Amino acid sequence: MKIIQNISNLKKEIVKIKAKGLKISFVPTMGYLHDGHLKLIEKAKKISDFVIVSIFVNPLQFAPGEDYLNYPRDIKEDQKKLKKSKVNLLFIPKGEKIFPENFKTYVEVKDLSSKLCGKVRFSHFKGAATIVLKLFNLVKPDFAVFGKKDFQQLIIIKRMVKDLNLNIKIIPHPIIREKDGLAMSSRNSYLTQEERKKISVLYQALKEAKSFILNKEDNPVKIKKFIKKRLLELQINNIDYISICNQENLEELKVIKGKILIALAVKLRNARLIDNIDLLV
Ligand code: AMP
Repeated sequence: MKIIQNISNLKKEIVKIKAKGLKISFVPTMGYLHDGHLKLIEKAKKISDFVIVSIFVNPLQFAPGEDYLNYPRDIKEDQKKLKKSKVNLLFIPKGEKIFPENFKTYVEVKDLSSKLCGKVRFSHFKGAATIVLKLFNLVKPDFAVFGKKDFQQLIIIKRMVKDLNLNIKIIPHPIIREKDGLAMSSRNSYLTQEERKKISVLYQALKEAKSFILNKEDNPVKIKKFIKKRLLELQINNIDYISICNQENLEELKVIKGKILIALAVKLRNARLIDNIDLLV
């Protein structure tokens, strides 16, 4: 596995790969890799000839007071996992090179960025879209794999690709979960043992909500109340949102119908966790 930190070296390498006619797939990450990331990489390997992974904890997508400084990092362990997964190239850019002091250009995907997580993390998706576009410009992938774990991010990136006519196919990947259903996340490392035990209720509540919907319950207010009750029973009181919305525009639904997303975000001390289920009714 080739490791590149320098932007001009990456550009040279991409020219060589393209000259060989190889199809590139790309998996952008913030590191502290777990099996969720590794499954995205497996998928990337299946659909292309050359897999590029990036590790960059993007300061632009953290607001002041969020966990940018404490975000878990273990670059040595990540490198071992990526070598084992037979990734072809790892790009670990340096922050000050990616966003120098005089950096002035941002990408904003309107409306979609201000729903759900965007209601409390105001500039988060602007930061995420900006870094992803920048990485797309450097890596020039044919495919990019994104997890449905960050469903809102996935549809924002899809929209950016469409709106800006980027020649990249976005491949969504299902959420990879722990045995008890908790969605894998680098931020799960913030949880205490006690929190870890009870937090599987997020997925249980989502699954129960899904089964109500499949049994013809079409009133979103009732279902959201039910999910809230399940969380409050375990003293998970700090709920950013519980949403039942349309998967494409993230508008809250009055009647449950079509391509829907049941999504939630909660805080447990310093850990902010998100999860969702998508379904068609
Ligand atoms: P992150 O390192 O958290 O920025 O995530 C990098 C990519 O991995 C994003 O596309 C995430 O949606 C995806 N990802 C993270 N956790 C999971 C998971 N449990 N299942 C599927 N994809 C995931």
